[in-house]
Amino acid sequence: MVTDGILGGAIDTLDLTIVPEAIGSGIPLFAEAVPGPFVSSTSPRTPTERVAWSTTSVATDDTSIRTSDGRLPPMSTLVCFHAHPDDEAIATGGLMVRAAASGHRVILVCATRGELGEPEPGVLRNGEQLWERRMVELADAARILGAEPPRWLGYEDSGMEGEPTNDNPGCFWQADHDEATERLAAILTEVDADTLTIYDEHGGYGHPDHIRVHTVGLAAARAVGLDNVFESTIDRTGMASMMEDAEQSDRLEAGDLDVPEIDMETIGTPWDAIHYRLDVRSLVDAKKASMVAHRSQIGPDSWFLTMTPDEFAGAFGYECFNIPGALPNGGPVDVELLPGLE
Ligand SMILES: [Zn+2]
Repeated sequence: MVTDGILGGAIDTLDLTIVPEAIGSGIPLFAEAVPGPFVSSTSPRTPTERVAWSTTSVATDDTSIRTSDGRLPPMSTLVCFHAHPDDEAIATGGLMVRAAASGHRVILVCATRGELGEPEPGVLRNGEQLWERRMVELADAARILGAEPPRWLGYEDSGMEGEPTNDNPGCFWQADHDEATERLAAILTEVDADTLTIYDEHGGYGHPDHIRVHTVGLAAARAVGLDNVFESTIDRTGMASMMEDAEQSDRLEAGDLDVPEIDMETIGTPWDAIHYRLDVRSLVDAKKASMVAHRSQIGPDSWFLTMTPDEFAGAFGYECFNIPGALPNGGPVDVELLPGLE
């Protein structure tokens, strides 16, 4: 995602409005996942959050449909396939939280361990490798988002397009495509996936690993006969508008924001060519908490964490998806969850 190589830093505290209560799926979304600064048990929920979460509370009280261990049986299985730790938080965090809260099983697959990210100075302990930290961070983010512990495809970060690291024989870009497909297909089969998310054909913004998530994801879905495949994409039109606003803001002129460099000509998908849109504004606190979990990459001075709540909801309150190969349909259909999750 747009975080790659442009963000960094530790964060000490962040006031969140999420409380660590069990939800309908029985999955401990927050309680065990994020001790300390990630969770505030004292902050009240907003009215919209109460509405969003009360739906699951009803299901929690219905013991007649619980399994012997007290959990609700998952209804469907969502697999979100991502390239690097932190991509999941930004691109599909809302979808994951809503799917888990609706009782679905959520599986997070990450192609690489994000070895080539730029660690925020002072975050890593003596001798600690960045990939070690990023594995822990993704595990934390997965719990925050209601997913099972991450599954790793076992490749290395390829780095940004055109970098010499693209030639590393162990990187995802250089991986044998059939082998990578088999690894993902094995996971899809094992978890009996109903819905898979990948990226659009240019990986959102052209990162080689993201492009491979697209091609490997499509091939694996085809191999196992999975039809519900959706490309996570960025609303190019909306982002252009948002960036324009940011450039005109006093805050940006003061030079105190770390805004990522974005090629607006190629990023994501124009509005009228997007197929599905999820309104996850009521879940942005969970998305933000999952971003904060990636503390080696997303620092307190980052563009992501210095936005006002309204700006943050505007930037991350909607998640967009395309149907692979489908023609533009004049703009997205608003949905609660993607097809296959029912
Ligand atoms: Zn990425």
